[in-house]
Amino acid sequence: MPLDIPDLPLDLWIDGKPTPASDDRRFDVADPATGAVLAAVSDGSVEDGLAAVAAAEAAAAAWAATAPRERAEVLRRAFLLMQERSEELARLISLENGKALVDARGEVAYAAEFFRWYGEEAVRILGTVATAPSGQNRILVVHQPVGVAVLVTPWNFPAAMATRKIGPALAAGCTVVLKPASDTPLTALLVARILADAGVPPGVVNVLPARRSGAVVSAMLHHPSVRKLSFTGSTEVGRILLREAADQVVNCSMELGGNAPFLVFEDADLDAAVAGAMVAKMRNAGEACTAANRLYVHADVAGEFSRRLAERMSELRVGPGTAAETDVGPLVNADAVDKVDELVRSAVAEGARVVVGGDRPDRVGSYFNPTVLNDVPPSAAILREEIFGPVAPIVTFTGEAEAIRLANDTEYGLVSYVYTNDLARGLRVSEALDSGMVGLNRGLVSDPAAPFGGTKQSGIGREGGHEGMLDYLESKYIAVSW
Ligand code: NAD
Repeated sequence: MPLDIPDLPLDLWIDGKPTPASDDRRFDVADPATGAVLAAVSDGSVEDGLAAVAAAEAAAAAWAATAPRERAEVLRRAFLLMQERSEELARLISLENGKALVDARGEVAYAAEFFRWYGEEAVRILGTVATAPSGQNRILVVHQPVGVAVLVTPWNFPAAMATRKIGPALAAGCTVVLKPASDTPLTALLVARILADAGVPPGVVNVLPARRSGAVVSAMLHHPSVRKLSFTGSTEVGRILLREAADQVVNCSMELGGNAPFLVFEDADLDAAVAGAMVAKMRNAGEACTAANRLYVHADVAGEFSRRLAERMSELRVGPGTAAETDVGPLVNADAVDKVDELVRSAVAEGARVVVGGDRPDRVGSYFNPTVLNDVPPSAAILREEIFGPVAPIVTFTGEAEAIRLANDTEYGLVSYVYTNDLARGLRVSEALDSGMVGLNRGLVSDPAAPFGGTKQSGIGREGGHEGMLDYLESKYIAVSW
């Protein structure tokens, strides 16, 4: 299927214009539904990374000094342009990532909203003034842009992970270099074009596809002008980048992996719980850090819950993301399918029972069938690792304390879901869960107006909401004699 987007840049986006890689290297971006090559994109080198940082540095002072109202207007225009171009963006996301159009449309709406929300926040960067306890001076605190920010994003939400970082960075007055995932660089390049059309000055936003990501990101993090790293991706790569960032003591925000528990108590509304599980599990075909990875269901209702969930899962239509009737698209590449397949096989070998799915459909492309597993033993790898696919493993529990213990038994702490009709229990359990976010009778927590992020090995910092802006601001304290 041709891309058919005439103004989509296929080169690096540096200093407001498409720029070929310094060594003229390119790499192919493929459609996971067919394996067909969609485009050959310039492959940024270390030299290009440093040129992008230099462009961001050159633009930094003027952008930081731009009136907040003007920064807000630019972001607002970018929001409107993303809405205008939403079908184009959704199709592009679906083509390079594989997700069903319905998911891609949802992502574009979510992604655009970060520009609107942070445009609104740009004019509300407040400081404080206080009388020192001694009474002898005033304590004045102002918030200033942290400086040039390097942003690194994953392939699973190619638009939203970019705008969730660019929105607050620009609102705060920072300039950025974004390195998108190599499986999905096209969407980020179109976002760069949209931001330029919205009036973002050259150098403020640079986008650098680079397959040599380790070397390129490391070189940028060692550039003395880079003051901020915001990374979304796996915990494994996050740890590497935290070490890299240590050399220049670069301020780090880390949105890392998840292993979300989904708790269903015996008093839950089962229809709502099944509907919530479908969203928490199947949004993006399970390729989400927020995906319900472990479904803990009270023994009294587990049979009924599993039956209803399996029924809903079996109704889903698997196919190319760009086909109108598709509910579940292909996974991002063949390796992703192999990993899911291996996790399911090993769970079954350990005693889990396949209720529905459990295998690949008989078609070309990187697909896996929506799957429900019962009787998954606690030792199974599928309960420990991110599945990143359309598989729902169900485990039963009998008491509240046991449910909390099982839910917290992971090194991750991004999000948890709780279904109960007892409000006191809902709040009690939410507070006891060791995660940055909780969906209480709700299978979707992502909201541009709310602080998204994790505890433990799921990360550091928050994106979204008022808190998301603080990650791009330094507090400066001025002691004023009185
Ligand atoms: P990944 O860690 O493999 O890659 C993420 C990004 O880092 C990509 O741009 C990649 O090219 C780059 N990268 C890889 N190795 C690097 C290195 N050595 N140095 C510098 N950059 C490097 O993750 P992924 O497979 O693209 O995405 C899936 C992961 O992202 C999952 O673990 C998922 O949970 C996580 N994720 C987290 C959130 C969140 O908000 N917490 C959101 C989406 C995805």
